[in-house]
Amino acid sequence: LSTARNSLTVGLIPADGIGREVIPAARDAIVAVQQELPPLKFIDLLAGWDTFTRTGTALPSETVRALKDECDCALFGSVSSPSRKVAGYSSPIVALRKELDLYANIRPVRSVSADASTPPTTDLIVVRENTECLYVKDEKLVNTDNGKEARAIRLITERASTRIGKIAFELAKARPRKAGTGSNCCYFSDLLQLVTIIHKSNVLSVTDGLFRESVRAVPVAANGKFDDVTIEEQLVDSAVYRLFREPQIYDVMVAPNLYGDIISDAAAALVGSLGVIPSINAGDNFVMGEPVHGSAPDIAGKGIANPVASIRSAALMLRHLGYSSPADKIDKAVNDTLAPGKVLTADLGGSSSTSEVTKHIMGLIEAQY
Ligand code: ATP
Ligand code: MG
Repeated sequence: LSTARNSLTVGLIPADGIGREVIPAARDAIVAVQQELPPLKFIDLLAGWDTFTRTGTALPSETVRALKDECDCALFGSVSSPSRKVAGYSSPIVALRKELDLYANIRPVRSVSADASTPPTTDLIVVRENTECLYVKDEKLVNTDNGKEARAIRLITERASTRIGKIAFELAKARPRKAGTGSNCCYFSDLLQLVTIIHKSNVLSVTDGLFRESVRAVPVAANGKFDDVTIEEQLVDSAVYRLFREPQIYDVMVAPNLYGDIISDAAAALVGSLGVIPSINAGDNFVMGEPVHGSAPDIAGKGIANPVASIRSAALMLRHLGYSSPADKIDKAVNDTLAPGKVLTADLGGSSSTSEVTKHIMGLIEAQY
């Protein structure tokens, strides 16, 4: 997104559980880099299960209005969902993605090496199409002479596949080149920027075939803009296998909704705690940062939730908005906190509180100015 704006208005939607403890930390991180940003404004907004139980709606129309009319971007915490289906309740995050047309789910997964000179073994981004595939939820159950039969529609369009492809190529182009990337990495001597298209077009040649062709057409139509980006393809099953055996071969992975969902959780398992993994939901006009973890009811209210996923989500959001220098400072402060392993929350084996970790990271941001 373009950085030509006179102010930056951030909607804050902590929602439920530990969202209320970690979103303030993400806000602090944005404030800590404000000298590199246009004048900031924060707007507190309601959504979630708690909002539902008090008002009868999980996503008040005022929240949607404020996001659309007043905000440039937003930070979303986490929602608790009821264990059983509750009449009238539906996930506000799913509704928000639709309302704001946030068609890309972007999840970087990066391990931290103990010393700065060793590159991380896992350093990749999963780019997941977020509006179609099997998740159009067009399902039907019919009774036949041979018993029940269930069918689901899987929608893949050229438009959605092309726009997610563009995001993947833009991200690959903006990332530092990586050595030893690529499924044939022993043959590559060069440093690469790589997009790996994930599909299963040997079986689903029509739907996955269209996804694959549409993504492949992106650099062709871009008049040389993405000439430096290498393209590979992998079948989704083998991609998961290789992700666990040699995560270093990946840079940017782009996938239709369902495969992307599975791969992003599988990739998250490579780096330990859910408490460190950020994401953004992005569209052409809006971006929303969201830690990957849920509301963690088991630790909510204890002040021990890891704020890193939310702080990194803030950095990722700023980067997507075009503010890469402040985003770099936040990421560096986080990495310099995690690597020595002295100030960590319990999920990473430490004994520091949310506020101690946040304070430590803020100190390391300030030290860079
Ligand atoms: P929800 O139903 O909202 O998804 P959940 O019980 O599935 O909640 P998650 O948030 O998905 O919980 O996380 C699973 C486990 O990981 C939790 O039990 C929690 O202890 C741990 N966890 C998740 N996020 C964090 C965090 N930020 N800091 C520390 N631990 C975390
Ligand atoms: Mg969960």
